[in-house]
Amino acid sequence: MYRTHTCGELRKSHIGQEIRLAGWVQTIRKFGSITFVDLRDRYGITQLLFGEELNKELTDNPLGREFVLQVNGIVAERSNKNANLPTGDIEVKVMNFTILNKSITPPFTIQDDTDGGDDLRMKFRYLDLRRQAVKKNMELRYAVNRAARNYLHEHDFMDIETPFLIKSTPEGARDFVVPSRMNAGQFYALPQSPQTFKQLLMVSGYDRYYQVVKCFRDEDLRADRQPEFTQIDCEMSFVEQEDILTMFEGLIRYVFREVKGIDYSDQIERMTWEDAMWNYGNDKPDIRFGMKLANLKSAFRKDGKIKATGDLINEAGFGVFDKAETVVAIAVPGAAEYTRKQLDELTDWVKRPQIGMQGLVSIKCNADGSFKSSVDKFYTEERLKKIAEAVGASAGDLILILAGAEERTRKGMSELRLELGERHGFRKKDQFRLLWVLDFPLFEYSEEGNRWVARHHPFTAPKPDHIRMMIENDPVIKNPAQYLQHPYSDIKANAYDLVLNGNELGGGSIRIFQRDLQEKMFTALGMSREEAMHKFGFLLGAFEYGAPPHGGLAFGMDRLCAILGGSESIRDFIAFPKNNSGRDVMLDAPSTIDEQQLKELSIRLAGE
Ligand code: ASP
Repeated sequence: MYRTHTCGELRKSHIGQEIRLAGWVQTIRKFGSITFVDLRDRYGITQLLFGEELNKELTDNPLGREFVLQVNGIVAERSNKNANLPTGDIEVKVMNFTILNKSITPPFTIQDDTDGGDDLRMKFRYLDLRRQAVKKNMELRYAVNRAARNYLHEHDFMDIETPFLIKSTPEGARDFVVPSRMNAGQFYALPQSPQTFKQLLMVSGYDRYYQVVKCFRDEDLRADRQPEFTQIDCEMSFVEQEDILTMFEGLIRYVFREVKGIDYSDQIERMTWEDAMWNYGNDKPDIRFGMKLANLKSAFRKDGKIKATGDLINEAGFGVFDKAETVVAIAVPGAAEYTRKQLDELTDWVKRPQIGMQGLVSIKCNADGSFKSSVDKFYTEERLKKIAEAVGASAGDLILILAGAEERTRKGMSELRLELGERHGFRKKDQFRLLWVLDFPLFEYSEEGNRWVARHHPFTAPKPDHIRMMIENDPVIKNPAQYLQHPYSDIKANAYDLVLNGNELGGGSIRIFQRDLQEKMFTALGMSREEAMHKFGFLLGAFEYGAPPHGGLAFGMDRLCAILGGSESIRDFIAFPKNNSGRDVMLDAPSTIDEQQLKELSIRLAGE
């Protein structure tokens, strides 16, 4: 037997017992003739005491960091107790020891505050994973996984595996492809998600499906993305949107309770996509704080109309506002005190290429009711007061205004709002606010090709009362400059996203389940009949054999873990993640393959 106990197990109640432990040497401290060793395993750390009598043996067999050590010893009360350690009341007086394996000096210290940089830790991820801080993240991930499975199992969902070697399932990204040896010149695609399979399972009658599953998307890995990531993927038959929202609110509440001990009993708020864009400039707004956008002028169509015409700001001789398509503002509470320098820094911040604005206009709402602004020349005190009212600013607030093209300006203001929310401490890590965003547009305009693309994916159903709009109108966009006036711009999808603290936790939709509507959808997306049959003949065929009404959603498991773990990065919650260039630096993958392999795959590399 290698061990009688783990390194996290021994307590005062064990004092006097003879035990055996095995683990890794974390630290070695010599005090005269005695030596202390912290022995670590997955469960914790136990202090070992090597007395004088073991000195000779220790000299003959010196220990080193990360050696694998087995000791026999007696549990004893510690004189110098460590209240921060569950085993801090005791130590083990070593009687004899065996070095099970040696270690060369690790490239970084295996402790919570390690001296290892990111790249080094990724290269030696198997050592990084020994650190308690990383281990905690793995434990949290497992807890989320287990909770989700428990909940879904209790609600009759069946875990059914779907294949990885498939034909492309478009979800808006590029596919990873795998050459087929047995079918020379042909390729599999790795699934961007099991979308079509789970729909087929509904046709087969498995009315509640789930899978904790890898998805593969060949995207540029800006921000915090991974080329392979995990979804908790679900689908249900005979459901309407409301059934799905209820079921998965239950799931998320269950996960909160099981994993974080949080009883999220508040009603989960709901917001239409239009309201989210209008008020926050973002389809996944962080609603932990206010600072909503004030639309002074905008090309955004809400409820089918342009609502912000710019009456308040136009024709004051300020060309920037007069010419801009969109002018939006926010009020930053209590920030009227900002110095010139702070305002200049913010201006630089919005001018960075990532935000891409030309400048930033500010109005300070002074405590005495007066205003001080960078556009005083153009606007009377009276007008500034009206603007402040429109923005909802009070004395002591700072109004910040961006102007420019609709999409960029709205997005820029959304980023600025989040940044200031962060700087002012409004985005509290321990506060969780869930939100459903509903009624997304069904289509998105793609300049490239002057056509419509599916905003979610091509299997998403329009809202029932918008189906006619889709069937009765020609998808062709005759005037690209005015695509917003095309009826397809106003078609809403039966789709929903669950948002947590400004992050998309998951999303899904009610699906199209009739062949003719699905065909119409493919046509709307610019696919010919032949192309639709070639790519999705199997699904269209299946829809002819009694496909039930169905819908579902998928949660992003990695993101969910990161948020629950209070981290910015999903990488922290993936055992073996890839870097920002999609490389596994530990394996050094991707890599070239040898001639023979290429030949078997009938592949010749360009340039040869
Ligand atoms: N397959 C979708 C996705 O990966 C989720 C869904 O619609 O269920 O985003």
